[in-house]
Amino acid sequence: MSHLAHTDPAIAELIGAELKRQQNGLEMIPSENFTSLAVMEAMGSVLTNKYSEGYPGKRYYGGNQIIDQVEETCRTRAKELFGVAHANVQPYSGSPANQAVYFALLNPGDTVLGMELAQGGHLTHGYKLNFSGKYYHSVSYGVDRETKLLNYDVIKEIAKKEKPKLIVCGATAYPRKIDFSEFQKIALEVSAYLLADISHIAGLVIADAHQSPVPYADVITTTTHKTLRGPRGAMILLPKVEDRLHDLYHTTSKRNLAELIDAAIIPGLQGGPHNHQTAAIAVSLKEAMTDEFKVYGRQIVANAKALAESLAQNGLELVTGGTDNHLILIDLTDAGLSGAEAEKLLDEVGITVNKNMIPFDLRKPLDPSGIRLGTPALTTRGFTEDNMRVIGKTIAEIIKNPNDETNKKRVRRTVHALTQTHPLYPEF
Ligand SMILES: *Cc1c(COP(=O)(O)O)cnc(C)c1O
Repeated sequence: MSHLAHTDPAIAELIGAELKRQQNGLEMIPSENFTSLAVMEAMGSVLTNKYSEGYPGKRYYGGNQIIDQVEETCRTRAKELFGVAHANVQPYSGSPANQAVYFALLNPGDTVLGMELAQGGHLTHGYKLNFSGKYYHSVSYGVDRETKLLNYDVIKEIAKKEKPKLIVCGATAYPRKIDFSEFQKIALEVSAYLLADISHIAGLVIADAHQSPVPYADVITTTTHKTLRGPRGAMILLPKVEDRLHDLYHTTSKRNLAELIDAAIIPGLQGGPHNHQTAAIAVSLKEAMTDEFKVYGRQIVANAKALAESLAQNGLELVTGGTDNHLILIDLTDAGLSGAEAEKLLDEVGITVNKNMIPFDLRKPLDPSGIRLGTPALTTRGFTEDNMRVIGKTIAEIIKNPNDETNKKRVRRTVHALTQTHPLYPEF
């Protein structure tokens, strides 16, 4: 990156430092991953120069012959990969994608039922300080107090009582499988739209390591930068361009769901799409179509299971006792330190995790009782179950001996050795 170093040495140096941090640490935040160099090349391309408000074949700017092909390629791959009828690949990120779905399907004040943030949902699923909780009447479901699992009977009762127009399923901190077919039954019973937000698990869905929301959901949103391993971005997918519920809520509009979603993105919420991002998403979708990606997705889960087993064997308490997917929630209530303290402690030895609320947490969001960690990024680096067992033991030792400096030194050596045997971006 010689041009950058010449023009702006300060930023070049920071990028270099961040590269080293990524290379030399264990990245275990479950929403993060490492994209390929091919994805980054598309992301850093001349496509960033072009304006192309509208959609392929219907642009408000000239000169979009090439961009149209880029976006069409991306849409086609998204439809093929997920087996859906319609794809909008323009959302700038996951939150705007969800916002667009709300904007397309609801009127301000309509009722939305989503998973509570403090129990594993996302900000955009109805949190009171988020647009989704401010402009809509948001009600929530959580997990069972005993099992910490979703209880579909309870969710159905809440839905029958609240009569939401939209039900949102999907999570950011739920270590078990989500049953989209159960959510569909509930949505059908109360005549609500069903939005499945698979931001975290899209890569697992592709790898058949998690049930697909197709055909159960009316609308699917996903980020492209988590388990899917693309650039930052998002997509809105429609399993079928059919309007089961359309007539219920849009009696004055003759537009189908696909038209409503597309119009919600532009002119509803966004201007020009980020074409370099669209191209990079297209590249990552091509990568996700390979057999290697399927192996990758399943390895993420195998690694998470091995890690969970090791953490539990070494005396840590896991929410729901383990995991079915890519992430693990550690309940630190009895460990003698908070989530923030554990996050900082692990950071000191080169292990990056994030503090997180656990269900029914008695502590505050900025210093909750849990940490959340996952395996997508390390699996990209080639880590396997054996490595995970070592890492699980190491994390437990650090958490149980927060003041043992000799142990920390030893762990830093372990982390260093693991990163050396699993190089990241060796080209740089
Ligand atoms: C990450 C995430 C989002 C938001 O994505 P951003 O790109 O951070 O806006 C939305 N929903 C879920 C379930 C997520 O995990």
